Amino acid sequence: MKYPIVKNIINGKTEQSQGELLDVYSPINGEIISQVNMSGKDTVDEAVKTASAAFEEWSQKTLKERVQVFFKYKQLLEENMDELSELIQEENGKTFGEAKAEIEKSIEVTEFACSLPQIASGEIQEVSRGVECRINRAPLGVVASITPFNFPSMVPNWTIPNAIALGNTMILKPSEQVPLSANRLAELLHDAGLPDGVLNIVHGGQEAVEAICDHPGIEAITFVGSTKVAKIVYQRGAASLKRMLALGGAKNHLIVLPDAHPEMAASNIAASMSGCAGQRCMAASAMVAVGESDHIIEKLCAEAKNIIPGENLGSVISQAAKERIEGYISEAEEQGAEILVDGRGADVNGKGYYVGPTVIDHVTPDMKIASEEVFGPVLAIMRTDTIDEALAIENSSAYGNAASVFTQSGKMADYVAENASAGMIGVNIGVPVPREPFSFGGWNESKFGSGDITGTSSIDFWTKLKKTTTKWNPESKVNWMS
Ligand code: NAD
Repeated sequence: MKYPIVKNIINGKTEQSQGELLDVYSPINGEIISQVNMSGKDTVDEAVKTASAAFEEWSQKTLKERVQVFFKYKQLLEENMDELSELIQEENGKTFGEAKAEIEKSIEVTEFACSLPQIASGEIQEVSRGVECRINRAPLGVVASITPFNFPSMVPNWTIPNAIALGNTMILKPSEQVPLSANRLAELLHDAGLPDGVLNIVHGGQEAVEAICDHPGIEAITFVGSTKVAKIVYQRGAASLKRMLALGGAKNHLIVLPDAHPEMAASNIAASMSGCAGQRCMAASAMVAVGESDHIIEKLCAEAKNIIPGENLGSVISQAAKERIEGYISEAEEQGAEILVDGRGADVNGKGYYVGPTVIDHVTPDMKIASEEVFGPVLAIMRTDTIDEALAIENSSAYGNAASVFTQSGKMADYVAENASAGMIGVNIGVPVPREPFSFGGWNESKFGSGDITGTSSIDFWTKLKKTTTKWNPESKVNWMS
């Protein structure tokens, strides 16, 4: 094995728990590169004890003191960008450029955390004569973050800098499919000066997650992953009265109008459906072509044919994922859809798990591929005569992460932005991820809980408010209502 066993990190020390070991594969070539510790309740107990002890001191530091760690962390992310990107590429299968973009986004969210002293400080107002109201933010205590396989660095970094800078201590439970990057991030945070016990990493799967949901010493949990598990985790954590935010899966629609700029639309749509091998919760998955759009679809297919597995297209995460994705394509074909670009059977030197870019035309809303999350480089095209029919298809989705419109008409763009049922809207943008300080989060079954996971919205999630009302007016008959 190229890497030693990936162990838990508790109180700054790497520790192996009693649990079994699970093989970690590189999806690029299918080789076992490491094994990961599958922890259970005892390890979660130990991590909570440690995080709880560390909270005493960490929460007493000022916000300005705490963010100093993240200024240094940002610098270390920059200095180690190539090495971190190679590790992501190896364990996740995305291309080096995509892995690098993930570190760049990790840097951006860290920069936001560094600005917290300027934007998350308290407020004070004279609310009546001689009467002041003051609001202070207090950290919650021990919090947990549970993350998926598709962004081994970015998604952990959506939560680590903000939650910890705001004074909480954390337990991170990374995906067991990509555990290596999380430990490397913890090493960098240690080098940046984060005290032991403030961030603890518990590796594992369902058993570890259930122990986190049930533990009475954890105040809040964020989850990012599939909708099926998001529902389970949200309900289980809330049942033990925790503050919960659970982001789920997606089926993102791109509504393409005939006046869209053909080259720009085609290249954006191709990049959105195939980037990170379609394994992004913001990936274009369904395109709704309104009216005469053949000229755009032709260009889109030409773009897709230039996306080559093993060159500018990474692998999917596992053999099971490859089979699931190819199964969706075959089923759509059997049901009468037309495969314009076929990515089935992609082969890169006989190794790894690759699916080529796939464009499927004449999909109808009743087909499974029209409504379910495929999570691969596959675009299902549906055709409508009017924009309202297109919006009806988008609105009928159970999900609601992102929706985009491609047009040169501001009026039509506004109409789609207003009427799409999704939390993140793109106008002539295939992957409409909000940039800091704007927050990230979808609607409907793409997110459970209030607020978003990043940006200014996350400040409310990671803190509680203390409201103090003070009267300094010496006149005896003046009360706080005066
Ligand atoms: P997943 O739901 O299988 O796993 C996510 C986490 O949950 C992992 O840490 C895993 O160990 C744990 N887990 C898995 N099964 C569990 C169970 N039965 N009980 C408790 N915990 C369990 O998701 P994944 O396959 O790692 O990631 C892909 C999914 O994540 C896609 O659906 C994608 O859309 C979604 N995603 C969403 C966002 C978003 O912002 N909405 C971002 C990234 C990924």
